[in-house]
Amino acid sequence: MNQHITIIGGGLAGCEAAWQASQRGVSVFLYEMKPQRFSPAHVSPLLGELVCSNSLRSNSLYNAVGLLKEEMRQLGSLTMAVAAETCVPAGDALAVDRQAFAMEITARLQSEDKVKIIREEVTQIPSEGIVIIASGPLTSPILAESIKKLTGEEYLYFYDAIAPIVDGDSLNKDVIFRASRYGQGNDYLNCPMTREEYYRFVDELGQGEKAPYREFEQPVHFEGCLPIEEMAGRGRETLAHGPMKPVGLRDPRTGKIPYAVVQLRQENEQGTAFNLVGFQTKLKWKEQERIFRMIPGLEQAVFLRLGSLHRNTFIHAPSLLKQTLQLKKDERIFFAGQITGVEGYVESSAMGLLAGINAALHLQGKPMLFPPQTTAIGSLIHYLSNPVVKEFQPMNVNFGLFPPLDRHLRGKEKHKALAERALKDLEEWIKIFHR
Ligand SMILES: Cc1cc2nc3c(=O)[nH]c(=O)nc-3n(C[C@H](O)[C@H](O)[C@H](O)COP(=O)(O)OP(=O)(O)OC[C@H]3O[C@@H](n4cnc5c(N)ncnc54)[C@H](O)[C@@H]3O)c2cc1C
Repeated sequence: MNQHITIIGGGLAGCEAAWQASQRGVSVFLYEMKPQRFSPAHVSPLLGELVCSNSLRSNSLYNAVGLLKEEMRQLGSLTMAVAAETCVPAGDALAVDRQAFAMEITARLQSEDKVKIIREEVTQIPSEGIVIIASGPLTSPILAESIKKLTGEEYLYFYDAIAPIVDGDSLNKDVIFRASRYGQGNDYLNCPMTREEYYRFVDELGQGEKAPYREFEQPVHFEGCLPIEEMAGRGRETLAHGPMKPVGLRDPRTGKIPYAVVQLRQENEQGTAFNLVGFQTKLKWKEQERIFRMIPGLEQAVFLRLGSLHRNTFIHAPSLLKQTLQLKKDERIFFAGQITGVEGYVESSAMGLLAGINAALHLQGKPMLFPPQTTAIGSLIHYLSNPVVKEFQPMNVNFGLFPPLDRHLRGKEKHKALAERALKDLEEWIKIFHR
């Protein structure tokens, strides 16, 4: 077996993975196709490029992404170390000078003896040795073909269609009723609407402010999976005959079929989070919160994730990956970063961190590890590798992914308790990990 790890992609995940493996004494060949070839969003020849915002989001420990960052610091993350050195004032958020950030990531990896950086597009997944695929949401088309052969066509996607997720504790159960269509079970929560409520909602949806499509993600690609506001714009009754159709759903309180319903589907095993079925959207985030709170029962909704729709290469991780981020059917292959089905800079780096550690342990013949599900990083791993998840869409870290507490708390108190539990469990886990 080759005595090095091959990493494909020098973005956030690939760089973090290379760093972690090299810190464990393992040699790494890190392939990056820039500057020979750029994806439609990348512009800099540097490694660790932030393609859009310069923010790594909230730094608060009582916010899931803030907690994830703290866990990564404790696990020796390169991304976090360099972000601390290159940060710029951003209130409660951690934002960086993107040029300084990418320059420092590149410099640190260039000066690592164990890391060899090869500026070349990988067109085939190597047939030998340990490989980490971290080629990102805009993986080059030829490599995507090779990944497709490995995973099977049905398990590789090129666009995401993300519907918002709400915290179950924030729902008004006096309005919402539980039922499946035609009395076949009780699987859905239903938000009933009168005709007036429905028209008011549809009109707002149609006029809501949208995030623009980028040049390389023309709306025509989404014909099969339209944003909810675009359906609303096609006619006032379109939604009532589509994702909001009320047929077979009788409101037990009135005994009548509502004019329209928004259905909520359980998102996790614990039943603490629910997604709005069919509500993939390009509305701006503030608009989503404003308009979706018009839905009866969601007036006080806490959004754990907001909707989106964009070009994104990702795999159906729950079918394909183990908790170690290894491919089930070929354990020498690991996936890392956004391509695993996480969403965001920090989450992508976190998956690079774990893939790098585990690939190094695997090469050294040592047992591999994964953090407890009660941690932010462990909750993401659980989401990716949980075979129960069927309708898989990319996910950013959020408290809805965490197992419930042993006592009932709400809002800030709940987040504080979840964060404290996570950091305590991570500390214990790190002790085992260093043993
Ligand atoms: C347009 C866009 C905007 C985004 N904006 C944000 C944002 O503002 N905030 C946020 O948190 N997240 C954002 N994301 C989501 C995502 O978290 C980032 O894309 C993040 O950079 C993903 O990290 P990664 O390491 O998985 O992939 P990347 O950072 O994209 O790194 C992948 C690397 O692999 C290289 N590569 C691809 N194919 C090959 C090949 N065949 N051979 C060799 N190298 C290859 C690429 O050149 C790239 O450098 C955005 C995504 C996109 C597409």
